[in-house]
Amino acid sequence: MTDFQAVLNSIYQDAIQATDKGVVASYIPELAHVNKENFAIQLRTATGECYGVGDYNKLFSIQSISKVLALSKAMSLIGEDIWKRVDVEPSGHPFNQLALLEIENGIPRNPFINSGAIVIADILVSHLKNPKEDFLNYVRELAGDASINYNIDVALSEQSTGFKNFAAANLLKSFKNLNNPVDVVLDFYFYQCSIEMTCSQLSNTFYLFANNGKCLQNKLHITDRQVKRVNALMLTCGFYDEAGEFAFEVGLPGKSGVGGGIVALLPDHFVITTWSPGLNKKGNSKLGMQALEQFTTKTKQSIF
Ligand code: GLN
Repeated sequence: MTDFQAVLNSIYQDAIQATDKGVVASYIPELAHVNKENFAIQLRTATGECYGVGDYNKLFSIQSISKVLALSKAMSLIGEDIWKRVDVEPSGHPFNQLALLEIENGIPRNPFINSGAIVIADILVSHLKNPKEDFLNYVRELAGDASINYNIDVALSEQSTGFKNFAAANLLKSFKNLNNPVDVVLDFYFYQCSIEMTCSQLSNTFYLFANNGKCLQNKLHITDRQVKRVNALMLTCGFYDEAGEFAFEVGLPGKSGVGGGIVALLPDHFVITTWSPGLNKKGNSKLGMQALEQFTTKTKQSIF
């Protein structure tokens, strides 16, 4: 049997000694204050064991990782109709790139680039009675944890500097792929991205994607078929223009956020979360990616 704790400990030792820890995102001013010396890994297995090392009980901004949760909620609300408005192809471009959106007539490449996530946010705004409250309750239910919350300072900080997201939303609106007003949709989107979690909470929240759609409390939220789709999208689009690299190095479906978090999973086996705030040039956590590469290499556990 693999000694998971020993594997995590050895990855941690390498990570804290790394000389290049990447660069903390500063285009959202509130995120610029985060200390890049933070480092954590947390593993939850399908058989219920948990292992952690480093700062795995410290809160961080999950940012784009929330896009997976928004997508699963939208799937449970409107099912296949989503795919009339968002495609399922990797973009090969940065998460905030706008050129493709214009060329492709306002249909975002996938739900994990910003324009795609803004369309998903529009769907949630249309179908949830109290969008921010209902979405937060959904996330809390998945995690089995009522303490999870938005960080309003982070949401407002992004609201004041999120010019490219305003541009994306306006472009979507001009192509009639946004039903609600731009500012209403973006207000929801910035709150969604501002959710804070610890690595432990994030592994718990994502458990349903490793467990055929059932959360830790054994409640079914999405079907097997929908889980298959969410995991396929994480594998092909979860790391923007580095999705190929992540599949190549790590070999798991996963999702990153500019807060420095990454969550990845092996269906029926485990969910693993890393947090290291320094990012590489593609906006993915530098040490988090390295840690996950080491994890799947040392344990020989990947989908390949
Ligand atoms: N809220 C961020 C944005 O829209 C999320 C980006 C990310 O985590 N990659 O730019």
